[in-house]
Amino acid sequence: MNLKNKVCIITGGASGIGYGIAKRFVADGARVVIADLKLDAAQKAADELSAKGPGKAMAVEMNVIDEAQVNTGVEKVVKEWGGVDVLVSNAGIQIVHPMQDFPFNQWKKLLAIHLDGAFLTTKACLPHMYKAGTGSVIFMGSVHSKEASPLKSAYVTAKHGLLGLARVISKEGAEHGVRANVICPGFVKTPLVEKQIPEQAHDLGIPEEEVVNRVMLGNTVDQKFTTIEDVAEVAHLFAAFPTNALTGQSLVVSHGWYMN
Ligand code: NAD
Repeated sequence: MNLKNKVCIITGGASGIGYGIAKRFVADGARVVIADLKLDAAQKAADELSAKGPGKAMAVEMNVIDEAQVNTGVEKVVKEWGGVDVLVSNAGIQIVHPMQDFPFNQWKKLLAIHLDGAFLTTKACLPHMYKAGTGSVIFMGSVHSKEASPLKSAYVTAKHGLLGLARVISKEGAEHGVRANVICPGFVKTPLVEKQIPEQAHDLGIPEEEVVNRVMLGNTVDQKFTTIEDVAEVAHLFAAFPTNALTGQSLVVSHGWYMN
């Protein structure tokens, strides 16, 4: 199972987990598309990865909630590289507030980036995957696709929603050789999580150390953060697995925080 020459679009690929997945895929010989909000950040990431090889990377400016930009970006990839084999819908944000204070516009923004983003990018890629008779769609879920935490009403709702969407895509895509799966990581130290530590300390009225040791890692088997490399390895499995035997699934990679 390898990704040699496979065309893999990774949204939010300029930072954190998305960049780590891109790195893993390029190391396996893939042609990776870094699709992110800012072209300069995406280009920097793509240049770094192409320099490492043996695969290569290109940058595409893409706000995943802008339908025209998503469609144009995917068309550009197909024009240059001939198709799309793998989509990793990974772009995401976090916004934390107690329910009663959650601003409605921030609720809508978070749901749009996670759910509209997954919908629009998948919709744009599927015709190309169907035409080729093969493809892998991977959504970045979370332990919060399975569990709930205080302050995260929008995030938990969005991440649970991705499970349903992946199951529908796996049923519709099966006859075309297209699989859909969800990765559910525990806490990974990326800019998204670094930002949450002081915010949660403020909202919960506890020290930052307690946010890390109790709130984030308290239910793991060994009080460890999941790493970007751990998540990238699971992404590689879903991307390279060759048949419909592995579809409609969600895999939790969280140091045992959630067990199923
Ligand atoms: P990050 O902030 O490091 O990276 C997120 C990337 O998404 C950034 O490059 C950002 O520019 C991009 N992005 C944001 N909005 C976008 C938009 N509208 N269109 C295109 N790109 C956009 O965060 P991360 O921790 O690497 O998170 C990546 C994914 O992993 C998210 O879906 C997140 O919910 C999920 N996740 C993270 C953790 C964690 O602990 N870090 C755990 C579970 C799941």
